[in-house]
Amino acid sequence: MKKKAKRKGPKKAAKKGQKKYVKKIKKTAKNRTVQKSAKPAEYKTVFISLGSNVGDREEYIEQAITLLRETPGIKVIRRSSNFETQPQGRKNQPLFINAAVEISTNYSPQNLLELLQGFEDTLGRDRSLEWGPRTIDMDILLYSNELISEDNLTVPHPLMHERLFVLEPLKEIAPNVVHPILERTIKELYHDKKAEGMESEKYDEDLPGFREVKRGIADDYERW
Ligand code: AMP
Repeated sequence: MKKKAKRKGPKKAAKKGQKKYVKKIKKTAKNRTVQKSAKPAEYKTVFISLGSNVGDREEYIEQAITLLRETPGIKVIRRSSNFETQPQGRKNQPLFINAAVEISTNYSPQNLLELLQGFEDTLGRDRSLEWGPRTIDMDILLYSNELISEDNLTVPHPLMHERLFVLEPLKEIAPNVVHPILERTIKELYHDKKAEGMESEKYDEDLPGFREVKRGIADDYERW
């Protein structure tokens, strides 16, 4: 005799339906969370230093700023003037042009570093000589108030407060920004460094639009 298939009672069917429903809720909730975290990251204020001492130095600085401007997720808020400075570390190389920019970005610090290194490569940066001549050097000085200590990235840049060629352009666009570790403004750090009296500064009126900064700096003072 054929066994009659047991019909599921209404209670069992309801239980199965409920299970399905709970599963659906879980799935939707999961999707919602995904949607939430897929929201674009918050924009942060970041300061970047630029330096060039090969070829048409001002042009390389302009091109680097243009590359930043053209990148989705980056807004260039302001830029400093160009400053002409003596090379540090390796002395027998051409004078540098230095500048600083403020950007607003949703790039993470690591992604931003990677992007800047890509720009350096695009603009023909030769990395064979450490502290050697470079078409363009782009460093992250400050990334909001964040403190970053990773193998390939330290923020605030560990030498920024030691370098007039960084502080001077930065002071022009961010005098009242506070260094999150030293708890001093950029203006104060700049004056502290100048007051050390190691350096002498001269503005060259023959270079319109430019300020030439001449210094005698200790030999062990390296460019990074
Ligand atoms: P540079 O010669 O200035 O291009 O710097 C060389 C190295 O510095 C790179 O390999 C970076 O990973 C590392 N680095 C560490 N901290 C920073 C920073 N805040 N900005 C840029 N480069 C950094």
